[in-house]
Amino acid sequence: MSKYEPVIGLEIHAELETESKMFCGCKVVDSTMAEPNRHVCPVCCGMPGMLPVPNQDAIRMGIMVAQALNCEIQPFNKFDRKNYFYPDLPKGYQISQFDFPLALNGYVDIETSNGPKRIRVRRVHLEEDTGKLFHLDPKVDGAKGALVDLNRAGVPLLEIVTEPDIANAEEAEAYCRAVRAVVQYLGVNSGNMQKGVIRFEANISVREKGTDVLNPRVEIKNLNSFRALRNGTEYEIKRQSKVYDKGGTVDQETRGWNEKTEKTTIQRSKEDAHDYRYFPEPDIPPLNIDMDWVAEIAKTLPELPAAKKARYEDLGLSSYDAGVIVAEPESAAWFDTALSAADAHSADIAPKKVVNWMTAELFGLMNAESLSIDEQPITPQMLVSLIGLVEGGKINGKTGKAVLAEMFDAGGGDPEQIVKDKGLAQVSDASAIEDAINAVIDANPEQLAQYLDGKDSLSNWFFGQTMRAMKGKANPQVVRPVLNKLLEARKG
Ligand code: ADP
Ligand code: MG
Ligand code: ZN
Repeated sequence: MSKYEPVIGLEIHAELETESKMFCGCKVVDSTMAEPNRHVCPVCCGMPGMLPVPNQDAIRMGIMVAQALNCEIQPFNKFDRKNYFYPDLPKGYQISQFDFPLALNGYVDIETSNGPKRIRVRRVHLEEDTGKLFHLDPKVDGAKGALVDLNRAGVPLLEIVTEPDIANAEEAEAYCRAVRAVVQYLGVNSGNMQKGVIRFEANISVREKGTDVLNPRVEIKNLNSFRALRNGTEYEIKRQSKVYDKGGTVDQETRGWNEKTEKTTIQRSKEDAHDYRYFPEPDIPPLNIDMDWVAEIAKTLPELPAAKKARYEDLGLSSYDAGVIVAEPESAAWFDTALSAADAHSADIAPKKVVNWMTAELFGLMNAESLSIDEQPITPQMLVSLIGLVEGGKINGKTGKAVLAEMFDAGGGDPEQIVKDKGLAQVSDASAIEDAINAVIDANPEQLAQYLDGKDSLSNWFFGQTMRAMKGKANPQVVRPVLNKLLEARKG
């Protein structure tokens, strides 16, 4: 056991999927796809004399996120200049919010292996994204240096900052997953981490257990996946613990996570707020947020992941299954449609049945082909009608799985039709089953003799042979008792 405990605060940057940029009319485009520097204007390029105008839709989306994170929306908002030089920041400053942010004092409830925990959200503020740098590789590009693409410069960005309430990498991941799910459910961000539209930074310090000091913290950047967030956080906790063990001190600094070496390395010593020389953005008057508008926005929030999960648990799903379904809005939407189809179906199909078929069978087929729920061919109606055939005794569970796999490979289909066309209907007719069993017994006199000699376990073998002879279509609930009766009869 380590004598140290980690103290972690997270900063999440999420782009907002507005039509146009934060302070100009340029289109917001997928910066990994669009031709570089095609969506730029004097405002987002930082030309002198240009006037930025805040994008109302970005403010609306920011308010939605802040409400979903249980924050207090602030009636008085101000934009500030955060001054620093970087080649992808043509103005030499970023318009952000410093002392009067959009929202304060929220929280996110997460599940941990020690039970539920509340992570406090300190603030949510609006700012603008920077451009992107592409570092040239002389071997590939024939030149040294870097290229800059300003398509992303000025894209609305929401920064969400927690209190240092997070105690380990597991909690950090659970928190980031929860916030990512919220922005996805709200439809304001795709959650695509490869494209960098949502980015995580972890502020980490360690202290001796049982104390409540806040030691100097290290901020880790470049955490581009949940794996990087986990591993980077764990690495940094160990690194700092070792430094203190050797009697050293940890400096406040910014470090980058290196995916290849699995180490953090120093990027720069971390500045404090005063280093940025924040001052009020002179071109944007402070905003008075209309609280009636805020109340209207609150009414537009969809059912959020936490509420959805609670509703599924009320329907009899385990917390684990409910968590799996709500993790992505697409799978929750798919499941909700399946629930309505199950309700409308004549057979009695419990939500628990639907989730079992969905997570165990359908997700299995999807994972094997690396398809998402939106890319795979089975509709909720198809799955529910298949479950109906099984629950109604038309086919057995094993045949059901085979039919699902067949529909999946064929790009969809009507399970009832497949069962009809392939003659897969389950045989429950006792006389047909009796004939098959008698034929199996007669064809295997040796096994029968052993059975009659007292080797009872052979009844399972006869059961298997019967199912095989009937090509898996026999209703096992009928085969069992009929087989027992016929074997008993042979005892004479
Ligand atoms: P800024 O980055 O603007 O200077 P803060 O220093 O207040 O803001 O905090 C940034 C993030 O670092 C917050 O998430 C906060 O909870 C976290 N944090 C602050 N102090 C510590 C600390 N000693 N150890 C770990 N995290 C910290
Ligand atoms: Mg910060
Ligand atoms: Zn522009």
